[in-house]
Amino acid sequence: MSATIINGKEISAQIRQELRQQIQELHHARGITPGLAVILVGEDPASQSYVTAKERACQETGIYSDDNRLPATTTQQELLQLIQQKNQDPRIHGILVQLPLPRHIDEQAVIAAIAPEKDVDGFSPISLGRLMLGQPTFLSCTPHGIIQLLLRSHVNTDGAHVVVVGRSNIVGKPVANLLFQKAAGGNATVTICHRHTRDLAHFTRQADILIAAAGAPHTITKEMVKPGAVVIDVGVNRVSAPDSPRGYRLQGDVDFAEVSQVASQITPVPGGVGPMTITMLLYNTVLAAKGEIR
Ligand code: NAD
Repeated sequence: MSATIINGKEISAQIRQELRQQIQELHHARGITPGLAVILVGEDPASQSYVTAKERACQETGIYSDDNRLPATTTQQELLQLIQQKNQDPRIHGILVQLPLPRHIDEQAVIAAIAPEKDVDGFSPISLGRLMLGQPTFLSCTPHGIIQLLLRSHVNTDGAHVVVVGRSNIVGKPVANLLFQKAAGGNATVTICHRHTRDLAHFTRQADILIAAAGAPHTITKEMVKPGAVVIDVGVNRVSAPDSPRGYRLQGDVDFAEVSQVASQITPVPGGVGPMTITMLLYNTVLAAKGEIR
């Protein structure tokens, strides 16, 4: 292997340490403890474990975590009422509604009900619109985590050609937007590929920085990567592994064993982008507590 590993766990730990300090300062200077309301509807096991991880991360960092676990039968009206309550609660600076929601609830209506100054997931039309305009806002957590990985690994995006594989609202679109903003971690030339792209490899081979967010293992193989490129693997795919205790293991979208032979820097899965997502949620909660985003 020739590529250097971009270690998401280490970078994430660094940022959390910075946040702990800021939280202490906020407390001493203004008597504020950042508060995050986490709302989970239903019993989906993956969502339960994400929510538990978020609550634990809050506690470890010094953020007040307000845990709201509701039954799958919760109506949209009841959920909207709870959000209104949290919008008005001064102890709560950020509100996170774990997605996906049960089918009878309109996700967009729920996201739009979160007050813009508490939208720490950065998924509302207001937050995403501000991101696109380059205005101060809550940046969506996974895209912001990717930018932090690049910045803190000294990867220069200025003038670089970045190819993003995937155009989802939570990863592909926002990360592409961040990368071409006039800002640190931006100023790149960005190509966005998706399922309708003809000859994906033709584009990925031109990337100085390749971001894979397709949601399928082995989407990116060695032949698709320019030697020396930086490769960020967002994918988290469960693949069957009968000998592992859980019966599965996590694999990215990139063929790590092969691609790490040609890339200059690469994120592993797990331990790359994954740890950054919750960390940037904590970051946004602290930003919300500072009251700088209105
Ligand atoms: P999604 O399914 O909403 O979007 C996938 C995108 O990839 C689509 O736009 C699709 O057009 C494109 N795509 C799929 N196969 C392709 C192919 N062969 N060629 C070109 N484009 C292709 O997924 P998502 O929500 O954006 O998530 C993507 C992956 O990232 C998933 O594995 C998900 O689990 C993971 N993810 C990880 C984190 C994290 O914190 N690490 C956060 C969010 C998502």
